[in-house]
Amino acid sequence: MSKILIVEDELAIAELEKDYLELSGFTVDIESQGDTGAQRALSENYDLIILDLMLPNMDGFEICKKVREEKNIPVIMVSAKKDDIDKIRGLGLGADDYMTKPFSPSELVARVKAHLARYTRLIGTGMKENEIIQIRGIKIDKTARRVYVNGEEKIFTTKEFDLLTFLAQNPNHVYTKEELFQEIWDMESIGDIATVTVHIKKIREKIEINTSKPQYIETIWGVGYRFKV
Ligand code: CA
Repeated sequence: MSKILIVEDELAIAELEKDYLELSGFTVDIESQGDTGAQRALSENYDLIILDLMLPNMDGFEICKKVREEKNIPVIMVSAKKDDIDKIRGLGLGADDYMTKPFSPSELVARVKAHLARYTRLIGTGMKENEIIQIRGIKIDKTARRVYVNGEEKIFTTKEFDLLTFLAQNPNHVYTKEELFQEIWDMESIGDIATVTVHIKKIREKIEINTSKPQYIETIWGVGYRFKV
């Protein structure tokens, strides 16, 4: 079920919009202040925002700009003044639609449905899910380049991340330090295979409970390392 946020200071209008949208099966929240509306739009997971232009504390221009910096959900801007609508269009704030008050609630519902349908199609085709490697307590988000150990995010340097990811996506395969150095640092890099040892040590400090008894990256004495599954 889609969740919609209405940011509107005229409560009679907001309630009317809410009633019509709820009749169509949407979940609707109302915020009547600009600043709290912006905060809610950014912190909660709404599928669409209906945004009034003139609001106390922060206007719709500012809110639309903030939302666009972080989210690509549809935004429908509404205003009592036709002139304002033209102005908003001219500014290119990234709103998906504009409506002049008063409008019929059923027209609003129709536009909400159209935008949500378009947005869902967009997600279905264009946006890919993040590529995740999950091995026991370790979750590596390759797309976002983030690592979580037992649900807690750990900060990795670029090379530490590359090395951990390479080993984790080739589990149970033993690599020599030379192979790892070539794979992660390539031949042009300054440094030597001791760099690999240093990085393995740092990775272990972040992912292992007891670094002297590693559960994930095993040392194969005289050969190299492997990621144990
Ligand atoms: Ca208003």
